[in-house]
Amino acid sequence: MADVRQVAIEEILARLSHVLRSAARPVPLHEPEFGGNEWAYLRRCLDDREVSSIGAFVTRFEADLARVAGAQYAIATVNGTAALHVALMLVGVQPGDEVLLPALSFVAAADAACYCGATPHLIDVDVETLGPDVPKLRAHLSRIVAPRHGGCVNRETSRRIAALVVLHAFGHPADLDEVEELCAHFGLPLVEDGAQALGSSCRGRPACTVGRAGILSFNGNKILTTGGGGALLTNDSSLAHAAKHLTTTGRVPHPWAVAHDRVAYNYRLPNINAALGCAQLEQLPDRLQRKRRLAEQYQAAFADLPGVTIVREPAYARSNYWLNLLALEGDVPGVRDALLSATHDAGILTRPAWDPMHRLAPFVDCPRMDLSGTDRLFARLVALPSSPALADGGAPAAATPAR
Ligand SMILES: *Cc1c(COP(=O)(O)O)cnc(C)c1O
Repeated sequence: MADVRQVAIEEILARLSHVLRSAARPVPLHEPEFGGNEWAYLRRCLDDREVSSIGAFVTRFEADLARVAGAQYAIATVNGTAALHVALMLVGVQPGDEVLLPALSFVAAADAACYCGATPHLIDVDVETLGPDVPKLRAHLSRIVAPRHGGCVNRETSRRIAALVVLHAFGHPADLDEVEELCAHFGLPLVEDGAQALGSSCRGRPACTVGRAGILSFNGNKILTTGGGGALLTNDSSLAHAAKHLTTTGRVPHPWAVAHDRVAYNYRLPNINAALGCAQLEQLPDRLQRKRRLAEQYQAAFADLPGVTIVREPAYARSNYWLNLLALEGDVPGVRDALLSATHDAGILTRPAWDPMHRLAPFVDCPRMDLSGTDRLFARLVALPSSPALADGGAPAAATPAR
């Protein structure tokens, strides 16, 4: 048995090595790329001494981002977690509430719910689409929710369920039509965690524009980076204005007076980060193309290998293929970790999915539905190096442009 697994791991390694044949070792999971106007725009910030909260790049970044992301409004923030915090507050999450959010996700949504004084309520994943298992969630809610005036109350905890967060996992969009219908049925506002999904869409609708609010991250490992940064997207003008106010210390607009009309947050993205963002946004179309090519190359390399699949975008969606995923089929205890070790030994820096929320100390006691899909998927997934520069064998990128 061990021999069979050893052969399988060596075969997987050989195929990964072929896809990444020209890339220098070690191959990181995802590298930032600066191939355009980054130097020019940063220089302008330095020359004008506009590196912080004053400067034109934030306004420009918000306008460019809204256009590229297909949203009416974009509000830039210091990071994606801050955007999630503000999004949850503005859709009405209050202390003592529960927030439905995926168990298989990065920790930011659960943390953001806690910042609001709410409790995460963990939901299961659809192992095919990586989005929420909507039929199972519907059955769960039908079982536990007491229809009560003005919202949705968890009969088992007596707490109000105030919102649903969906994740577009690894760039693959959740089925937003299905989710929208569920939200309408239960009267739940929808927040899209699209931190990984800029450029993805569901039946033609861009990710993060379907819910009342969506969020993006521009951390160093995302498809575009501003160093650190994030954004809240919405089509709701009053929510957009409230988000701007809440993320900029509640300051009252005035030519010279410094006054604040509420307790708020200093979540504003600095100008220097926004300058990077403006340059990065210009490169999104090219980056999406190369990511799609890399995904095709991984898929071709594993097409005829039994027991292993490369995760594809769902039929209803277009994914940005932020991270390619290898899924091991069947009951494979030990194989995932053996593969992670073998790839690391070979300088291919793969990673498992996030430890599910219900296994993290701060969230072990959170209310939850059956999470068998989450446990199953977590045991099977291995994320593969996916920098856009790895398309076509990972040949060295073109020289850095003149500065
Ligand atoms: C990166 C990420 C975030 C948070 O982004 P930061 O900018 O790092 O705060 C939130 N959710 C998911 C799914 C992410 O991948």
